Amino acid sequence: MATRRNPSFDRLEASLLACPQCRIAVPVRKRLLLVLPEGDKYEYVCPTCGSTCGTTVQKDEPPPRRVI
Ligand SMILES: [Zn+2]
Repeated sequence: MATRRNPSFDRLEASLLACPQCRIAVPVRKRLLLVLPEGDKYEYVCPTCGSTCGTTVQKDEPPPRRVI
C-alpha cells in the first residue's frame, strides 16, 4: 500500500494553523475571500474565535469540461 506517500495531497485535507487569539493550533476553516487574476484568495479562520489565522492564494483549477 503506497497511498499515504503523497504529502502534498495530505495538505489538502486538514490544515492546522496557530490562532493568534487562542494561541494554539486549530483546525482552521478555509473561506474564499477574493478572486484575483492570479488565483483565488482564501483566508483561514479559527472555528473557535473567528480570527483570521492566515491567507493563501490558490491558482484557478481548470474548469470542468462541459460536453455540449
Ligand atoms: Zn482562535
